[in-house]
Amino acid sequence: MSEAGRAVCPVCPRHCRLADGETGFCRARRAEGGRVVCGNYGRIVSLALDPIEKKPLAFFHPGSKILSVGSYGCNLRCPFCQNHSISQHGAGELDFKEAAPAELADLALRLGRERGNIGLAFTYNEPLVGWEFVRDCAAEIRRRGLCGVLVSNGCAEEPVVKDIAPLMDAANIDLKGPSQDFYDWTGGSHAAVCRTIEILHRAGCHVEVTTLVIPGRNDSDDAIDAVAGRIAAISAEIPLHVTRFFPRFLMAGAEPTPVATVLRLVERARRKLAHVLPGNC
Ligand code: SF4
Repeated sequence: MSEAGRAVCPVCPRHCRLADGETGFCRARRAEGGRVVCGNYGRIVSLALDPIEKKPLAFFHPGSKILSVGSYGCNLRCPFCQNHSISQHGAGELDFKEAAPAELADLALRLGRERGNIGLAFTYNEPLVGWEFVRDCAAEIRRRGLCGVLVSNGCAEEPVVKDIAPLMDAANIDLKGPSQDFYDWTGGSHAAVCRTIEILHRAGCHVEVTTLVIPGRNDSDDAIDAVAGRIAAISAEIPLHVTRFFPRFLMAGAEPTPVATVLRLVERARRKLAHVLPGNC
């Protein structure tokens, strides 16, 4: 797709219009030859064998470990980003190593034999801004009989999510707030995130959702009612993690969320959802 000599990126609702050589808002994609391509393909910034509960996933192979991989870039600008050191930077601002999908999948398989790894999780930065790499790795992982896990802000266009969904065994998607007003603050689309959760769930992927509670922003009864109600409209069986905010990034001077607030909201969300867990408490 192109518009007045600029390529239009179809991956997320921002639809960046880029002249050749320009990089998108996410810092991960760039225009080349009239197309927007995945600029962070195979560029690995973080790689670690994590407990599955850290994703967080509470009801998918509990007690197991998963090789977790991340690159750079994100299509949102949450002032409270807990992972800003890699999500809010691009190439040239941080170190990366290059790896092919088959190499990562072979490493995941070896770690499966040696250390109980169950698969590969795409996480740390926003994976879907580099969805082609996620797709290719997930296909390699599945060929080796391992699990693919997506940890995402969910703010992507429908065709991208539909391509990825059949390759994912589990996902944790952030539903950061109750409405588009909240997403106007972080720079995303509430409707796109809800649609992503629904597509993954309908594709048979095990989905859990996370809401980070920011004092004064999404810590009211009305806010948690709206979040829990929207998830319940897809399925009341989808687990929700209500997690505690710690001061980071542009909100480094804020107070952490009181534990009592998180626990109150957990109880409130349980009116609509079968599985609600506190996080970071
Ligand atoms: S994925 Fe990146 S380049 Fe594409 S529209 Fe979103 S922010 Fe822009």
